[in-house]
Amino acid sequence: MSNIVVIGSSSIDLVVSAKRRPNAGETIIGESFKTVPGGKGANQAVAASRLGAQVYMVGCVGDDNFGKVILENFKQNEVIIDYVEPVTGVESGTAHITLAEGDNSIVVVKGANNYVSPEYVSKAKNVLEAADIVLIQQEIPEETVEFVADICKELGVPLLLNPAPARMISHSIIEKVTYLTPNEHEATILFKDMEIENVLKKFPNKLFITEGVRGVRYHNGEKEMLIPTFKVEAVDTTGAGDTFNAAFAVALAEGQSMEDCVRFANRAASLSVTKFGAQGGMPSRAEVEGGLK
Ligand code: ATP
Repeated sequence: MSNIVVIGSSSIDLVVSAKRRPNAGETIIGESFKTVPGGKGANQAVAASRLGAQVYMVGCVGDDNFGKVILENFKQNEVIIDYVEPVTGVESGTAHITLAEGDNSIVVVKGANNYVSPEYVSKAKNVLEAADIVLIQQEIPEETVEFVADICKELGVPLLLNPAPARMISHSIIEKVTYLTPNEHEATILFKDMEIENVLKKFPNKLFITEGVRGVRYHNGEKEMLIPTFKVEAVDTTGAGDTFNAAFAVALAEGQSMEDCVRFANRAASLSVTKFGAQGGMPSRAEVEGGLK
């Protein structure tokens, strides 16, 4: 069983479906409202656990009711929460999602996720040391991402940085991480003024750009690769990127070939968009392997 540590955010998604988005100053009537567990860190931890890895989550929740729901959801998905602490007097992270016109728009309030500091992560050094791979995203403080890049380098543990949501990061962090998985939008922010072909070539087998329904682009050291995803009936694409990253980390930890890792992750991510909610469609191992002919 592979051993994965996810360092990141845990939140509650407050999801409204509406025919369209309201304009500034306008009130409209929506169709439905749901509350579901989310946050990029938690989503990736849950997805990796469903795919058969032993997963440690390192994160923070608020001391509110949402915090209890988040912890319960981790337990149900067999994610180990020895390093997920409630922060006194602080609210849990929330994401306010509007589903309209076939796409989502999201406002994230970080809450307790702001408390995932370098000092806090240091408490989990022993599990980091034992990890096959560490997975991190950008809904926690920037200094923590930098700290984790340093500590993983020092420990010799591979680090996958999913640079989402988009923000400029120092190129010294990019040098230190083992794998980097922006979507197209994030890639243009990270490498602005550079041709994507050249950037892919500069970071062979390290930079993987996810391109939604088209699949994933990377350079394998010899040539540029485009690995297509699988054709599915998309219901809700929230969490596609999270499922991709988790599945990619699981396959990498198992030592699959690079192309097989991407195919496995594409398959898992394509299945995730066939059901509602970030975690709702995250597949089991058997579901992914069943479709990988
Ligand atoms: P999100 O923010 O919606 O979670 P993202 O923008 O981070 O996603 P995308 O590049 O849109 O990431 O999607 C990640 C991966 O999910 C893609 O590379 C692909 O494997 C899969 N995927 C996304 N959308 C679809 C789709 N409509 N059909 C099949 N696979 C999809």
